[in-house]
Amino acid sequence: MPLNLWFDPAQVFIGGRWRRAGDTLPVENPSTGEVMARIARGSAADIDDAVTAAQAARDGAWGRLSATERGRILARIGQLVAARADDLALIEALDVGKPLKQAKADALALARYMEFYAGAADKLMGETIPYLDGYTVYTLREPHGVTGHIVPWNYPMQIIGRSVGAALAMGNACVLKPAEEASLTALAFAALAAEAGLPAGALNLVPGLGEEAGAALSAHARVQHLSFTGSLATGQLVQAAAARNVIPVTLELGGKSPQLVFADADLDRALPFLVNAGLQNAGQTCSAASRILVERARYDEVVSRMSAHYRALTAGPATADCDLGPLISARQKAIVEGYLGLASDLTLAGQGQIATDAPKGGHYIAPTLFADATPGHRLAQEEIFGPVQVVMPFDDEEDAIRIANGTAYGLVAAVWTENGSRALRLAKRLRAGQVFLNTYGAGGGVELPFGGTGKSGHGREKGFEALYGFSTLKTVAAHHG
Ligand code: NAD
Repeated sequence: MPLNLWFDPAQVFIGGRWRRAGDTLPVENPSTGEVMARIARGSAADIDDAVTAAQAARDGAWGRLSATERGRILARIGQLVAARADDLALIEALDVGKPLKQAKADALALARYMEFYAGAADKLMGETIPYLDGYTVYTLREPHGVTGHIVPWNYPMQIIGRSVGAALAMGNACVLKPAEEASLTALAFAALAAEAGLPAGALNLVPGLGEEAGAALSAHARVQHLSFTGSLATGQLVQAAAARNVIPVTLELGGKSPQLVFADADLDRALPFLVNAGLQNAGQTCSAASRILVERARYDEVVSRMSAHYRALTAGPATADCDLGPLISARQKAIVEGYLGLASDLTLAGQGQIATDAPKGGHYIAPTLFADATPGHRLAQEEIFGPVQVVMPFDDEEDAIRIANGTAYGLVAAVWTENGSRALRLAKRLRAGQVFLNTYGAGGGVELPFGGTGKSGHGREKGFEALYGFSTLKTVAAHHG
């Protein structure tokens, strides 16, 4: 299926204007390995111009809009995104390699983020504080000013939605640096935002390399807040850069999220979640449920049912809408193959296939399930970011918690049990930013605050909570006698 764009992808968008960058980067279709377009290779100078344009927007037309007016613009963006959902889905499927159906869900989630933050824009209020006689004291929620947004390639639309949506709702002016592997829907989004009447400079977009445009944005002295989603190693660099400028940073990093299955669980209900939550987007999901912990009494049964599920799965080109697409790049495929090479001491419990007509140049890996992992095994500890899950047994509740909490990460966890007291107990004791009881992911949950503990990062995006992160609090104390 050809890539049909209604914008020139080899451009940056700064101060409401499109312009060509000095150099370009190739855009690969991961389903075929072919180069299908070129995007701008934004430079430090482009980032500097974008920050200047954002600052001008904050000081100008964008900064003067009421919260309600900001919300109306976000609502219009959401409507345009929803109207182009099929086009956006096709672009994302070709660019990221995710099956069309999943790409369509991402496009609709982007529209929903705009709708949610449109409604939220004028709902965050300050407080009055009882104080000494003769004083009136109140707080104001204000935007940081210029916010930088560095986005990865796995869910560009969803991550732009949750981060740029909340930042704009609070009145910040944004500079967005999408991932070099997948920038096309970010460009489409900027075009739609302009069409919806977003004032010039409120959103600026500079595609480019992480070590060039990304590093320049995270180190920029006139950026007042950074939102970063990506790997732990890059997150550490971004946080160090933010520290030098003494600005707040939200880090959404990786995970090794467990699902805990107790012997009394409703397995018929749990089973699709156990597998799908691990394999969505070919496992390239920060919140992928990559560890399945099962109480010993039902361990063999769960492994055998998951194996059967795996054997029925097929990876193929994104537009063929198979169960899984390819991985994003040859590099990512090599990383996953490296992990598969470490699994000789595990039991290969189930494996899907690669479609026979999948193009040879695509980056396919058959979904693979390993059983009998020990909690300390590297495949049970490290984020693989591919279609690989490990299953391991536990003896009792204490053992389950010890294993579940026993990695450096803490993003998401799930508990499957019909014992309500146990579910609530575990929800408290699991170290994770989100805990699901008898479900996983809750349909994406635009409304649900999301973020990590430990090496999964800090700060919260999504839901109303994100508005606190994208604003700063000012206390006003008046003495009137
Ligand atoms: P990455 O860190 O390589 O890249 C992410 C972004 O950072 C890209 O835009 C990249 O260009 C930019 N970048 C790279 N080097 C930079 C630098 N020196 N300075 C500033 N920016 C730089 O990550 P990735 O491989 O693209 O994404 C995979 C990782 O992201 C996984 O670990 C995954 O778990 C994580 N992730 C987390 C979430 C979440 O919400 N917690 C969501 C998606 C992905």
